[in-house]
Amino acid sequence: MSKKTVSILGVNFINTTLDGMVGKLSEHVQKNEKAFVVTANPEIVLHALQDANYKTCIDRADYVTADGIGIVKAAGLLGTPLPGRVTGFDMFMKLLQLANEKSLSIYLLGAQAEVLQLASETIMKQFPKVKIVGSHHGFFDWADDKIPNEIKATKPDFVFVALGLPRQEKWIAANINNFEKGVFMGIGGSFDVLAGTVQRAPEIWQKLNVEWLYRLVKQPSRWRRMLALPHFAMKVVGQKVKRSS
Ligand code: UDP
Repeated sequence: MSKKTVSILGVNFINTTLDGMVGKLSEHVQKNEKAFVVTANPEIVLHALQDANYKTCIDRADYVTADGIGIVKAAGLLGTPLPGRVTGFDMFMKLLQLANEKSLSIYLLGAQAEVLQLASETIMKQFPKVKIVGSHHGFFDWADDKIPNEIKATKPDFVFVALGLPRQEKWIAANINNFEKGVFMGIGGSFDVLAGTVQRAPEIWQKLNVEWLYRLVKQPSRWRRMLALPHFAMKVVGQKVKRSS
């Protein structure tokens, strides 16, 4: 039997597919339960290795999913394969579809105000039955209770947090105890993609597993962040060598 979770450099990834994960989250919503989802790419795993406080936030998540081919390849190399990528953006789209079918409610937190506005308009157009019960841009004072109070009052089924790493996971971990229900998920730059201000790689690039290269070509300023990939690969090889010796 395959393991329920797969450990990569100390982060425990859920061993499931995109549809499997959406199914689990749908059950939580039906039962009015709370869930914290981290969609982790190699950068998140490395950050967790370097920042114990951040690692504690990741460990509090109910599910950590494989956001990126780097994670899937690492799992295979370690002899504990994962079925495929379960990315933040793909899950966001599937959950919006589900919310549209069942007229569920959502709260959007993050991104620049104009990006958030454009993303909200896209959601209203493409998923007209989704109830957007509230939203706030991502540049706010964490000590201010305004956002948690809004979420407490509106009790959304889903809270999508697009503050980028490590802020989104830290914000969810710091605030989730205040709420009775809701699926809380960090989704990085997904509002920018939905708003059309950042383009996701065309399908062919995604199929060839070179989405990271597309991002680098489109946003060359990200090259420094991309160095996380070879660094991550080296650490994974180190874990493999340690395990087999
Ligand atoms: N962001 C935010 N608040 C901040 C910093 C960033 O809302 O204090 C937003 C930013 O505007 C962008 C998203 O967080 O919409 C992060 O995007 P990025 O591409 O860095 O995330 P990734 O998907 O690479 O984690």
